[in-house]
Amino acid sequence: MAETTYDIVIIGGGPGGYTAAIRAGQYGLKVALIEKEKKLGGTCLNVGCIPTKSLLFDAEVYDHLKNATAHGIEGVGTITLNWKTILDRKNGIITKHVKGLDFLMRKNKVTVIEGYGKLTGPAKDGIHSIAVEAANGEKKVVQAKNVIIATGSDARMLPGVESDANRILTNIEILALPQIPKSMVVIGAGAVGVEFGSIFKSFGSEVTIVEYLPRMVPNEDEDVSKELSRVFRKRGIDTYTGAKVEKVEKTNDGVKVTFTGSDGKQVTKEAETVLVAVGRAPRTANLGLEATKVEVERGFIRVDEWMQTGEPGIFAIGDVVAGLPQLAHVAAMAGTVVAAKVAGKRARPVRRDRIPACTYCEPQIGSVGLTEAQAKAAGHQVKVGKFPFSANSKASIVGSHEGFVKVVADAKHGELLGVHIIGPQATEMIAESVVALELEATIEELMFTIHAHPTLAEAMLDGFGSVENMAINV
Ligand SMILES: Cc1cc2nc3c(=O)[nH]c(=O)nc-3n(C[C@H](O)[C@H](O)[C@H](O)COP(=O)(O)OP(=O)(O)OC[C@H]3O[C@@H](n4cnc5c(N)ncnc54)[C@H](O)[C@@H]3O)c2cc1C
Repeated sequence: MAETTYDIVIIGGGPGGYTAAIRAGQYGLKVALIEKEKKLGGTCLNVGCIPTKSLLFDAEVYDHLKNATAHGIEGVGTITLNWKTILDRKNGIITKHVKGLDFLMRKNKVTVIEGYGKLTGPAKDGIHSIAVEAANGEKKVVQAKNVIIATGSDARMLPGVESDANRILTNIEILALPQIPKSMVVIGAGAVGVEFGSIFKSFGSEVTIVEYLPRMVPNEDEDVSKELSRVFRKRGIDTYTGAKVEKVEKTNDGVKVTFTGSDGKQVTKEAETVLVAVGRAPRTANLGLEATKVEVERGFIRVDEWMQTGEPGIFAIGDVVAGLPQLAHVAAMAGTVVAAKVAGKRARPVRRDRIPACTYCEPQIGSVGLTEAQAKAAGHQVKVGKFPFSANSKASIVGSHEGFVKVVADAKHGELLGVHIIGPQATEMIAESVVALELEATIEELMFTIHAHPTLAEAMLDGFGSVENMAINV
């Protein structure tokens, strides 16, 4: 029999779960967080956002050093990579932030329970019971007035293909490879695929990217996809779109990937490794959902605008939610919303059309709001502006001229509808446009918003001006 009844029990300690726990603790609620792994942080901290960005930063430093003499830096000599140091640095960052989470749990009086959490059925007299089984087989039951499911996702695999330690990889194995592979085929040109493709190209691997849909980063504006393909080709990354993978086979010293290209011709690529980056499947099996009224759609959990499932008192957040982009900041904000709701505080639902999407490959991509095609499909009379980084002075200073800022606006009222950036620091620069969308800014207001000089952010001012054909610098 459980001795404590918590206000909220959260199953899953990733960015969705730990953010909900911290915020609920700040509101003074009694909170428990159940996590099956030894470390908090989930996919994001351990095998996702943070380790990939650590590698991407190392790749950026390495790329700069290759070009040192152009900056007047002599005597660098032959530069080489120490893969072990790269991995140690990445692991050090993870460890530091896992410790940070442990501290935040103590600070906010969150009880962390190690073990696998599972619902036991609907609430009885308003109290939910969650069965927890620890790794050593110990079992207990935890009781709560509210439950948040934040169990995240796993890499999807192609049918009949299984990952291993060093040839057929997902995001987990690739982050612990014994050495940098000489060659790699990446299946999937979404954010995960293009980020790893970008990292390993910088580190010297021969990289081929194969995408089933007709364009790279298919969720982005079409112009962004075209620009990424162009720059990746220029970087020597071989890309195939509209290509269907038929077979992935292990060979004596690597892998062989056979696919049909967009022209209907069969292509075979041999490489040391293959990364499968074809999306993420929600972890909703074996959670006891079938004993409740929680509705599931192709494995994802259906929720209303407050993340409430079909079962009263059970919420779902993060990668398990149907129709939400699988991003750490979306999971975290959804956790914040649920904590506020349960605490009876003011909250705003997550607006699905105001979620920034960032891809940290070289060149970076940052976008928010409607693409040009989506704005037209939604019935807007659309006005579009585009400003190239080649005309921005700070881009010359940092030696990064690829890409542009594209702004999508409503022609009738001048309302900002979407912003799509590809180029230097795009992932940082997009924040301004998220705020602009939140505040329902018009192009005119943005054209009179002062941006410091010389900055990459000035490209935003020119981007907004370009909607009215009045960018200053082109
Ligand atoms: C390679 C890669 C790079 C990425 N980069 C970015 C990025 O740059 N920016 C970004 O926004 N997003 C990025 N993402 C996506 C991001 O990692 C996810 O959207 C985010 O982690 C989802 O958070 P979550 O809390 O829903 O789930 P998760 O982070 O997956 O956490 C779920 C947690 O629940 C635990 N769990 C599962 N089932 C149970 C159970 N029954 N009982 C107890 N515990 C359980 C798991 O062990 C895990 O710790 C990336 C993903 C990958 C794979």
